[in-house]
Parts: sequence; C-alpha cells; structure tokens
Amino acid sequence: MDTQFSGRGGFDRDFLERIIESINPIAIIGRYTNLKKAGSRYKGLCPFHKEKTPSFTVDPDRGLFYCFGCGKGGDIFTFVMEREGLSFVEAVQYLAREAGIPIPERRKVSGEISTLQEAAEEAHKFYKRQLSSRDGVLGMEYLKSRGISQKMAKELGFGWAKNSWDELVRHIRHLNLEIKNFEKIGLVIRHAETGSYYDRFRNGVVIPIYSMGNRVIAFALRSLSKDEGPKYINSPDSALYHKGKVLFGLNRARKSIRQMGYAVLVEGYFDVLSLWNA
Ligand SMILES: [Zn+2]
Repeated sequence: MDTQFSGRGGFDRDFLERIIESINPIAIIGRYTNLKKAGSRYKGLCPFHKEKTPSFTVDPDRGLFYCFGCGKGGDIFTFVMEREGLSFVEAVQYLAREAGIPIPERRKVSGEISTLQEAAEEAHKFYKRQLSSRDGVLGMEYLKSRGISQKMAKELGFGWAKNSWDELVRHIRHLNLEIKNFEKIGLVIRHAETGSYYDRFRNGVVIPIYSMGNRVIAFALRSLSKDEGPKYINSPDSALYHKGKVLFGLNRARKSIRQMGYAVLVEGYFDVLSLWNA
C-alpha cells in the first residue's frame, strides 16, 4: 500500500512530499479518534465504522492508516478525503494550509487520467450532496427499502440525481469547470443537433464505482423513473473505467474474497452490497 508521489492531482511531487514530512499524522487523525501508542504504531477506535474494541491503526513512520475491521486504509490524503468528503486536490490544499506550506500552482498540463479523475470526484461530491438535500429524500427512502441505512449510504458514497435534465450541467458551469471532461466520462451528453449538454443520470440513486485504489472512476444509476427505461444505467467506458474489469464493491469486498478464497460474482449492484453487508 505504498504511496506514490507521481505528481497526483497535477501537484508537484516535492510539494506533496513536503506536506507529508511537515504534518504529524497522529495529530491530524487524533482529532477524530483517541489514539494510543502500541509498539511502533498507534491504535484507536475506527473513525469510519462503529466498534467497541480498537482495530484502527496508524503507522506514523510511513504515514499510513489501516482498519482491520472495515478495511479502510491509505495515506493522510486519503484519510482527509474520506473523513471530510474532499477531493484529492482539496485534501492537499487542506493539509498544506495545516502545515503552513504555500500552495504552488498546479501543473497546467496534467495527464488526462488525473483530469478525468478530478471530474469524477467533483461529480461524486455533487451527487452525494444531492442525496442529503431535501430532494434526496426519495433516494434515501429507496435505499432504506433495500436495507441500506443512511449511515451506510454515506459510507458507501451513494448519491442522488434529481429528476432534471441539467442539474449537473449547471453545477459544472457554475464552478466554471471544463464540461468536455465530464462528457469524456459520460456524465453529460452533447446533443448532436443543438450542441447543448444534458445530464446522463436523472431521477435515481447514484452508485459510485471504485477502483482497487479506492478512487471513484465511474457511476451507475438505479433509476426510479416510472417509465419503461432501463432500471440501471451505467457510465460508458472511458479512459478511467472499463466495464468488466471493475466490479462494483470489489474493493470493499476484497478482504472477504481473500478469506473465502474465491470471488462470488453476482449480478446487480445490490447483491454485491448485501454480500458485503452479510
Ligand atoms: Zn474501520
């Protein structure tokens, strides 16, 4: 689980390393849970899942955390992203401010992958916020009917797409982001004749699809529309995501798959979820 500083998020590699060197992961993570020294590591109750005996560990030398209970782990950037609901770029800015390190300009020409990754993360944040909005109540009710609590929905990063043609498009415009990047990952579609953009995902629960590295790379929509359209709509293949290579929930099921010695392939997202929940 080694962290690689290959200029993630378009940031300079040295800059990211300086942040890592300047901040004390025990102090940062210690704000969310009480950490006690245990050998060369620190232990505490996991800030990501409910537990009575500590299975959450922090390795201060390597700057990594890992929970033996829920399997969450990563570096300090991952921790801040997950705990504060930030994108990678925002987490870097947050920690740089903590460390009092001035934030340099990001590389103008960053790889397409990281640009698309940022677009996916921004969209994810947007969908998650929608689920907590008044309009998201419908989505929450549906999830409840499938045995998914509000807390679990949050943990799994579910979102909500309003019954609207341009909710995401307007959000992208509002933030002045490059809409082409969202088109490349299939979240917005360009109308062939008018040239205007509209949302792919409308009126349904948005399910994030994570990479093995625990980053969101695509989405699926469980449509709640009453018309005859498909129940599930997936992100199309993109530079970030190739269908068939990624199984939703796999990154979270990894531990149990290892324990069982084989992967149980299941149809449908909620089957994966109920497996994970079992
Ligand atoms: Zn945990």
